[in-house]
Amino acid sequence: MKIFNTMTRQKEEFVPLNPNEVKMYVCGPTVYDFFHIGNARTFVVFDTVRRYFEYRGYKVDFIQNFTDIDDKMINRANKEGTTVSELGNKYIDEYYKDADNLHIERATCNPRATEFMDEIIKFISDLIDKGYAYEVEGDVYFNTKSFEKYGKLSGQNLDDLKAGARIDVDERKKEPMDFAVWKKQKEGEPGWESPWGIGRPGWHIECSCMASKLLGDTIDIHAGGMDLVFPHHENEIAQSEARSGKKFANYWMHSAYLNINNKKMSKSLNNFFTTREILDRYDAEVVRMFLLSAQYRTPLNFSEELLDSAKLSMERLYNSIGNLENLLNEVKSDEITEEERKYKASIEKYKEKFIEKMDDDFNTADAISTIFELVKDINININVNSSREIVKYLLDLIRGLGKPLGILQKSTVTSLEDEIEKLIQERQEARKNRDFKLADKIRDDLKARGIILEDTPEGVRWKLQD
Ligand code: AMP
Ligand code: ZN
Repeated sequence: MKIFNTMTRQKEEFVPLNPNEVKMYVCGPTVYDFFHIGNARTFVVFDTVRRYFEYRGYKVDFIQNFTDIDDKMINRANKEGTTVSELGNKYIDEYYKDADNLHIERATCNPRATEFMDEIIKFISDLIDKGYAYEVEGDVYFNTKSFEKYGKLSGQNLDDLKAGARIDVDERKKEPMDFAVWKKQKEGEPGWESPWGIGRPGWHIECSCMASKLLGDTIDIHAGGMDLVFPHHENEIAQSEARSGKKFANYWMHSAYLNINNKKMSKSLNNFFTTREILDRYDAEVVRMFLLSAQYRTPLNFSEELLDSAKLSMERLYNSIGNLENLLNEVKSDEITEEERKYKASIEKYKEKFIEKMDDDFNTADAISTIFELVKDINININVNSSREIVKYLLDLIRGLGKPLGILQKSTVTSLEDEIEKLIQERQEARKNRDFKLADKIRDDLKARGIILEDTPEGVRWKLQD
């Protein structure tokens, strides 16, 4: 398998630290709000990377943190009149709801920065003892000059960086690029006891500390969105390697942005859709199909048209799956024929191609196209005269290729609940378009089936007739 390593700017063969194992750390969300569909791209991408490693037989130790203490958390908690810790609890719950709904597999562990305070303080003490960090009036800074390779990930050196940082130079720092690893408590802020007085950790130190605590000093893969290359990951490398004297991560992976009108989707630009509102309108597999329709290092533009086209693509794939499932009941013979054996062998090329594409730095775009090629071939060649064995084999093959992408895992039999919800939505749509005849027809048809609709201030509810 080949992975594009941001550190070396080239694709490299993946060689794990331990055979058949992957130790992976992904920078997770700051839990001060719902996450948007831009964040979701990064989460889905690395969930897919993890799933694909599992598909290829690796055991994956997958850590994704929650940043539950920083300026954004403090400001938001003050605004909502709650504590930072309550705010964190609330949005961690909301994160799990959306992430589960998006079929993002649960991490091996989601550490919270505030639960690692002792370890973070110890980490900072080690840096001070080794001469890599210094205290000034209750703040602690990392001394960038002391770490010779500072800038290696983002391809900059201290002089370039200094030139760009003239403004706002803090006199108390030894170097303009020195960054806080511990921040003295300000009024109204939460704080923890430390050898430097009451304060809180900087953002970068939490990831360095939790990664080493949970995975060891050297890990296989460290990942996040592109915006994290500098300064977050650069600073993580400096802290981690200064302390341990070892290489921090063998591969650095960064996913490109989900844009909207060619600008990064972000909270600060207020140009975002929450994942929740998108999931209210589109099925999770459709959203994943859209997010994986571009290779992860290619920018992707958000648009309803693309989501609608992902929806159509999914429908095409499920039509074929549904047809094959129906054939299982309709075929006349059980056993595979000689000719079908040959067909089965010829079909292997699609699976090989899928693996080849995914092995090439997780090219989900081409991997998805390969599934379409496979399905097209099957649609042409399989029918009621095929054997149950070959139909079953092909069904398993399609669903099996969908698994690492987190798609094609749904049952094709729709539940009564889903069907009613769909009809209710169609009725709402009809009412919006002032097509009351259609709206009434949908209601009457449901009534004839013993299902009563009630219009309430919270929306339309349904119940079974007594
Ligand atoms: P945050 O909560 O802002 O720290 O973001 C959590 C993760 O989402 C980080 O890995 C970010 O790099 C990533 N991210 C933020 N905005 C986008 C975007 N528009 N597209 C893709 N990833 C993003
Ligand atoms: Zn991080």
